[in-house]
This record gives sequence, C-alpha cells and structure tokens, in this order.
Amino acid sequence: MQILLLSGPDLIQNNPGLAIGLVVLVAVSLQTALALVGSVRRLAHQRRQLSRERERLAYLVRAAKSHWHNAELEKASWNGWRKFRVHKKVAECEDVCSLYLQPHDGKPIPGFQPGQYLTFGLDIPGRDRQLVRCYSLSESDIKREYYRVTIKKERAPRDKPGIPPGAASTYFNDTVREGDILNAKAPSGHFYMDTSKDAPVVLMGAGVGITPILAMANQIADSGSKREAWFFFVCRNGQEFMLRQDVERLRKVENIRIFVCFTKPAPGETKGRDYDRDGRLSIALLKEVLPSSTYDFFMCGSGPFMKDMYDGLIEWGVPDGRIHFEAFGPASVKRVATAKIGSPAAEAAPAGGKVAFAKSHVDAVWDGTAANLYELAKANGVRIDYGCGAGSCGSCVVAVKSGEVTYKDPPRFAVEAGSCLACVGCPKGDVVLDA
Ligand SMILES: Cc1cc2nc3c(=O)[nH]c(=O)nc-3n(C[C@H](O)[C@H](O)[C@H](O)COP(=O)(O)OP(=O)(O)OC[C@H]3O[C@@H](n4cnc5c(N)ncnc54)[C@H](O)[C@@H]3O)c2cc1C
Repeated sequence: MQILLLSGPDLIQNNPGLAIGLVVLVAVSLQTALALVGSVRRLAHQRRQLSRERERLAYLVRAAKSHWHNAELEKASWNGWRKFRVHKKVAECEDVCSLYLQPHDGKPIPGFQPGQYLTFGLDIPGRDRQLVRCYSLSESDIKREYYRVTIKKERAPRDKPGIPPGAASTYFNDTVREGDILNAKAPSGHFYMDTSKDAPVVLMGAGVGITPILAMANQIADSGSKREAWFFFVCRNGQEFMLRQDVERLRKVENIRIFVCFTKPAPGETKGRDYDRDGRLSIALLKEVLPSSTYDFFMCGSGPFMKDMYDGLIEWGVPDGRIHFEAFGPASVKRVATAKIGSPAAEAAPAGGKVAFAKSHVDAVWDGTAANLYELAKANGVRIDYGCGAGSCGSCVVAVKSGEVTYKDPPRFAVEAGSCLACVGCPKGDVVLDA
C-alpha cells in the first residue's frame, strides 16, 4: 500500500534491490534486442545469399541446357541435303500454307534456335535447275518430332501482271502434297533469340515476317520461361492473319503481351474482338505501350517496314546492338553502327572495275547499274546459282581467282576465304571470278 503511494524516483531510492533489478532488466532487454536485430540482419543476409545462389543455379541450369542443346544440335545435325516427308499440310489463310516435316530416315532431328530457317532444294518439273529457297521455322523447337515452315505464295508484282508468280512459294502452296519428299539443309541462321538469356524482348512481325518472330514467342511459351515478351503483329485483316491459332494461344501466357494491328479491317471485324489496334505497327505504338525502350528488339517484315522501325528505334535511343532483324530478300536496312565505323565493307564499290567471269570467258564492267555480282553475271549471260538473295543461304558462292569482293553489310552466311557470295557481293576493283 505504501509502495503504491510513492512516486517512481522515491520508489527506486527506497528500494536499491529494485533499482538493480531494473538495470539488469534494461541490460537484458537491450542485449536481447541487439541479438534480435543481429538475427534479423543475419537472416536477411542469408536470404539474400540464398536468392543469389538460386539465381546462380538457375543461370547454371540455363547454361547447361544451352550447352546440352548445342551438343544435341551438333549430334543430330547433317551436312548437305536430307530428305523430309511432308507429314501434314495446313492452309493457314489465303495464299499461305504450313508444312509439317518429318525426316524420311526416321532418325532424330536437331533442335534449333528460334528464328533460324531451313534451306530447301527444289527440283521442280519443267525447270532446268534446282531452286534453292530459305524458310524460317515457325514453331518452337520443343516439339522436336517435326519441323514446321509457313510459306506465303508470292504474287507477281502489281505493276507487272504478266510476270509469273514466285516459283518456289507457288510450288509449295499449289503442288506439294502430304506424303511428298523434300530436300532440306539443317537449320541455320544468325537471327535468333538466345534462349540461355532471359532479358526482356520485343518481337515484331509484319505479314509473313511473323514466322521467325512467332517461333521466338512459342519458344518462350512452350519452355515455360518467365521471360517478359511483347509480341506485335501487323497485317491487313483477318484474311491475312496467318497462324492465328498460335497467336491466340499466346494470349493466355502471363508474361507475353500481344498486340495485333489490322491496317484495313474487313467489314464485320471488330477491334477488341478480332484485333487490338487499327493501323500500322509504328514506333508511336511501341512508345505508347512499352514501359521503356530497354529491350532487345527482334523484327521481320518487308523492307520499308523494317527500315521505318529500325530508324525509329535508333531515334528513340535504342542501341544498335539491341536491334535484330531478318530480311527475306535483299537488305533494306542500313545499320548506323556499320555506317559509322566507315569500314571498307560499308563503302560503295567504285564504278569502273573489270569483272572477268573466267569459266564463261565473259568480261564485264562494274558500272554501278547492277546491285551485286549476281546481277552483273545475269545481265551478261553468266549463270551463277541463286537462293535467298540476302547472303544467307550460300547458294551463290563463287571462288574469287584474283581481286577482292566487298559487302555493304556483313553477310550472314560464313563464306570461306577465297570465295564470295555473288548475291550480295560487289567488286572492290578488278576481280576474276570462277564462274
Ligand atoms: C532467311 C530467310 C527466311 C525466309 N523465311 C520465309 C518464310 O518463313 N516464309 C515465306 O513465305 N518466305 C520466306 N522467305 C522468302 C523465301 O525464301 C522466298 O524468297 C519467297 O518464297 C519467294 O520465292 P519464290 O521462288 O516463290 O519467288 P521467285 O520466283 O524468286 O520470285 C520472287 C518475285 O519476283 C517476281 N518475278 C518472277 N520473275 C520475274 C521477272 N522476270 N521479273 C520481275 N519479277 C519477277 C515474282 O512474281 C515474285 O513476286 C525467307 C527468305 C529468307 C532469306
């Protein structure tokens, strides 16, 4: 009762035992608090370490997978032509078909990097020589029982209706049937999304340029990768919307955002239901929807489309090294990096050089009218094999007997020393070719 009537300081003065007890209590509490803070810090540190370890492990698993993937690729790959049976043919939309190809020998087929292509050698009845053409793989490489290519029939140019339509693409669409055998070279190409990395990507396809881009998006979806991806596709309307089922399936993948643009929707087609945006795929749209420009950009489409997008991305501040593109024909995009370096390859070949086609006993003058050595040869009646016209397939390789051949852009196909790619090469002075 007396204790209750005393104030705090009096109570302590009159009870030295209590004072000691209090000091001990404060000291113990302080120690406990310090120990607790220490434990929390240790725990946080351990958690950080654990998360770092987890990331390192995930990286190692990815690297091992990629290594295994490359080793597998190495094992099952082949040189030259291999026979493939058309297992299934699907009409995708007007003038576009997909071919599902299985190896005729029944042996395993190698994986590939999403974005790579197959090179076909076609012996079309009535043609005096084999046609060589490249077609991008449009599926992910997770479904390893077949390869899928998607081919658009090339119509004659609008201003030249008398000219025949594209030879190979018409043959694939109109003549090739299920069960037919086709000759193909192993998957190749340098335009691909590195699957050992998980940096966010923006994937853009226009028209049939959707094929390699879709393979990339499908790879992300099928592998269960959590990589952030933005997928943009532009075409005129639903009639030209090829591989629509694949794109719709991708809409369900959490880490992939889809934007389909129609430039000329058909009557009855509704935004929000049939497509996402009106008009072209533009830098303005990218700026509107992307949180920033810090992505790796992959694109494929017509020359003007890629030039517009490339120039726009550079202007937006995207480093040249983060912009990747595939041309289905002669290159139309001039990289700033190449132009800035001022390498000899970036310089136009001077007019006036002499080009001797030794085997054909033909001498020609490089006067600047032909875009490349293949065109010069053709104009002078010299036959050189031709495939992609883009320096990708290696069909036009010719030995250089003397002189030097230069390229406006480094070609994709790794041509060996002493030879050149006629479809993208220009003479650097006088040259003698073994053609
Ligand atoms: C790496 C790569 C990947 C590719 N991936 C795909 C793909 O996934 N899907 C796809 O559909 N394509 C793809 N292509 C394009 C494909 O390889 C062919 O170039 C395309 O199919 C056209 O070939 P073609 O034989 O049908 O046409 P070609 O016979 O080469 O004719 C091309 C055009 O020239 C016109 N033409 C024909 N003769 C003349 C003439 N005398 N004068 C003027 N014009 C003429 C034709 O009408 C046609 O419009 C890819 C190309 C590359 C390089």
